[in-house]
Parts: sequence; structure tokens; C-alpha cells
Amino acid sequence: MIVAMQSHATDEQIQNVIERMVELGFNVHRTTGETQTILAGVGTPSHFEVTEFQVLSGVHQAYRISSPYKLAGRGFRPEGTRITFPNGLVIGGDEIVVMAGPCSVESRDQIRLSASQVAAAGARFLRGGAYKPRSSPYSFQGMGVEGLKIMRDAADEYGLLVITEVMEISQIEQMLPYIDCFQVGARNMQNFNLLRELGQVRKPVAMKRGLAATIEEVLLSAEYILSGGNYDLMLVERGIRTFETATRNTMDISAIPVLKKLTHLPVLGDPSHGVGIRDFVPPMALASVAAGADGLLIEMHPNPDKAMSDGAQSLRPEQLTELIAKLRKLAPVVDRSISPAVDAVTA
Ligand code: PEP
Ligand code: MN
Repeated sequence: MIVAMQSHATDEQIQNVIERMVELGFNVHRTTGETQTILAGVGTPSHFEVTEFQVLSGVHQAYRISSPYKLAGRGFRPEGTRITFPNGLVIGGDEIVVMAGPCSVESRDQIRLSASQVAAAGARFLRGGAYKPRSSPYSFQGMGVEGLKIMRDAADEYGLLVITEVMEISQIEQMLPYIDCFQVGARNMQNFNLLRELGQVRKPVAMKRGLAATIEEVLLSAEYILSGGNYDLMLVERGIRTFETATRNTMDISAIPVLKKLTHLPVLGDPSHGVGIRDFVPPMALASVAAGADGLLIEMHPNPDKAMSDGAQSLRPEQLTELIAKLRKLAPVVDRSISPAVDAVTA
């Protein structure tokens, strides 16, 4: 931490700041200029708030120089995290993985058809919510455990992996036998109790960025999961709330290269929630890959006009096929490839 004192700060004020720094465990180096004193605190005390120093009397400005997230920071694993799934699929390597499926699990037939279309298009994960965080308590809330079973059966039939949203701690145990990856929704990114519990499981987690979360907050939330010992974590940019109303959210594409620089964790783009309008999803998916995403989470519904949630942003099956074909052309430009379709792997 660097504390720049106000010019002409009194000796007593300077001493007071030094004492507080020492108390916290900093090794303090003092530089006295003609009018201003700079205090450099070396060391990383486990608990300190830079804001505490910003308001001490005589302080001009205080800056944190070490990152507050130790395990999520790129320096912890400069080579990047690679997550390996039971079928050998890797996220965080050279291949970009596409996850697709409806917003919600609605019925066995809908999921079976979705799985066949998702696999045929070339995606490797089937997405679908069995528990849904809906803005209104009167909206469809999901099929629950029955939905998990339906997802597993359909995914197994078509050689896909399963990702689904976990909304509360009590669902974790219940989901374990049916899923390959937990999804933490945007609304739960700061549900710290849930994050801590997910740190205890040994199954990958994809954590979405909160609706109004800064990148630092995303990384601090990631730290909750990592500090429990679960390192199979990826982050998802899914759009944030801004003043713009032309799209459902504002897809913060810039968060992707920023996160790739700050953290070793794989980063996915979710252009569906990012823009909320079907026809804008493919360009934002392409942009996510161009920006360095390691994967995509995309809503696709066999009949989006009849979807029970997020129909307006769900691709039609043929749009997903067309998108993945384009992604295969784009990926080499950024020295990547799209993971081969299930058929190509099992053939
Ligand atoms: C979803 O993936 O359907 C979902 C609810 O996403 P988010 O948490 O990003 O709103
Ligand atoms: Mn959705």
C-alpha cells in the first residue's frame, strides 16, 4: 500500500498513519520530500481496508498495490487454469467450448429435442435451468429435481455434459449425481454462503458476473470458491445493467480480455443474457471469442416462440448451427479452435 500524505501534513499525523500501518503488519518505508511525505507499506496483512487510510487525517491519497484476491489472481497460476471434465473435454485450453440449450427445463420432450439439436450443431454442453431465479414469484420457477433427471438422461443420450444453475446450498447435494458443472447465477454472485459451500465440492463451477458487479467484485467472489479448495472455476460475462435500454443488459465484451489478464480462470461469454435479443446474440458470441473467451453459454430453444422463459433471446436451432460454423472460421484468427462436435469425437 502507498499512502501519500498531504503536503504540510503534521508530524503527528504522519506518525499516526505509520503506527496504524505497523499495527496491521506493514513494514513501513518513509520518503520525505520537500513538502510531501510518502509512506510505502510492504507486506500483505490479511485484513486491511485501503479506505480506512484514505480518511485518516493528513492523508492525501492511499492506494492498494497488491491485489485483494490472491488465489484468483493471474500470478497464482500464470499458465492458466484448465478444467477437465469426465469425458476428457477441457475448458481453458486451446479449444473453445460451446454450451447451449434452453433457459429452462420445461419437459422431457423439449430437453431431448434440445439435446439432439445442441449436439448436432456442435456444442458440447447442454444447458438448462431446473431451478430458475425469476424476477417475479409468479413466473415459471423450474421443474426441480425432475428437471435434473431429464437433463442427465438427454445429455447422456447425445454425449453432452450438463450445466445447470444452483440457487441454494440445499440443492448442491441433490444436483451432484446429475450434473457436470454448477452454474452460479448473476443474482447469486454475492451469495457468499453459497459460494463457500461450492468451494467444498469437487465439481466445476461457472460463476456469472452479478448484474452490477465490478470486475474486482467478480474476482473477490471467485476467491470465496477457490479458498475452499475448488479450483475448477470459470467466470461468465453475461452483461451488466447500464443506462442503455435498447438491449436487456450491456454485454461488457471488454471484461473478457480484462479478466483474462487479471485471472488464470477460464472466461466464458453469455451473449444471450448479455443482449437479450435473439438476432444480436450471434454477433456478440463472435465478439466474445474474438475478445479471448474460452467458451460460450448460449440459449437455444427448439421453439423459442413457445419458451417458458427467455424465448426472445433464445436462438432457433438453425441459428446455433450457423453460429458454430462461423465460430469455427473465426477461432483460428485468435489462435484457437472450437472443440469438435460430439459426433466427431465418438466416430
Ligand atoms: C440463465 O442462465 O438462464 C440465467 C438465469 O442467467 P443469469 O443468472 O445470468 O441471469
Ligand atoms: Mn435465461
